[in-house]
Amino acid sequence: MKSYDAIVAGVGSMGSAALYEFARRGRRVLGLEQFDVPNALGTYVGVTRIIRLAYNEDPRYVPLVRRAYERWHALGARVAGQLSRRMYNVLVTNVPGPQIPLYAAGSKVEAMYPVAPLGPGQALAVSCTSYNGRVFFGMTADRDAIPDVEEFAVQIGEAVDEILSTIPQQSDSPAPHARRRPRSRTSS
Ligand SMILES: Cc1cc2nc3c(=O)[nH]c(=O)nc-3n(C[C@H](O)[C@H](O)[C@H](O)COP(=O)(O)OP(=O)(O)OC[C@H]3O[C@@H](n4cnc5c(N)ncnc54)[C@H](O)[C@@H]3O)c2cc1C
Repeated sequence: MKSYDAIVAGVGSMGSAALYEFARRGRRVLGLEQFDVPNALGTYVGVTRIIRLAYNEDPRYVPLVRRAYERWHALGARVAGQLSRRMYNVLVTNVPGPQIPLYAAGSKVEAMYPVAPLGPGQALAVSCTSYNGRVFFGMTADRDAIPDVEEFAVQIGEAVDEILSTIPQQSDSPAPHARRRPRSRTSS
């Protein structure tokens, strides 16, 4: 008889996430679903579904959603990493973030830099998140493959400036936010 560390009834939003996290930690899991996985009857189905930080119901949702944004980047990196190891070694991911100022222990959050993990055989992961009217980039690089990732970060800034320069300036529009020198992170 087979034995499992965890059995989850219903492989929808919560069930599939629970099964995934158990399996990722090396646990033996079984998901029981009355229909196909995925199916068209679960509450997770529909083009209206969005991820958002603002919740009226209860402020306890907000930390959960912040964590969901992080996990969304990580899931995107892992899924993309499984598609093909031969065809690419650069991952690009973007997740829209909250467009209101946030506070942590009374202090205003000034910036929100995303961090996408590198999969095996990958050289560079570029992630992008927006927050409170600004856009933030995060770069994770294999230091052996890309020893000068700082240069790449500078070039992203230059490319953004180039795109912005194509937008006609209106005299009454506010000045664009000053761009700070990008920070980068390396791993190997
Ligand atoms: C119209 C609508 C709009 C929504 N919009 C949003 C949104 O914009 N953003 C957002 O974050 N959330 C939204 N939600 C909420 C979100 O979809 C749900 O909170 C979330 O999907 C619930 O996850 P769940 O795992 O509990 O249920 P589900 O994702 O529905 O999964 C339950 C699964 O269990 C299976 N199941 C049920 N009974 C059994 C059984 N006896 N045996 C085996 N399997 C069984 C079902 O077939 C299903 O696959 C929306 C919900 C609805 C209905």
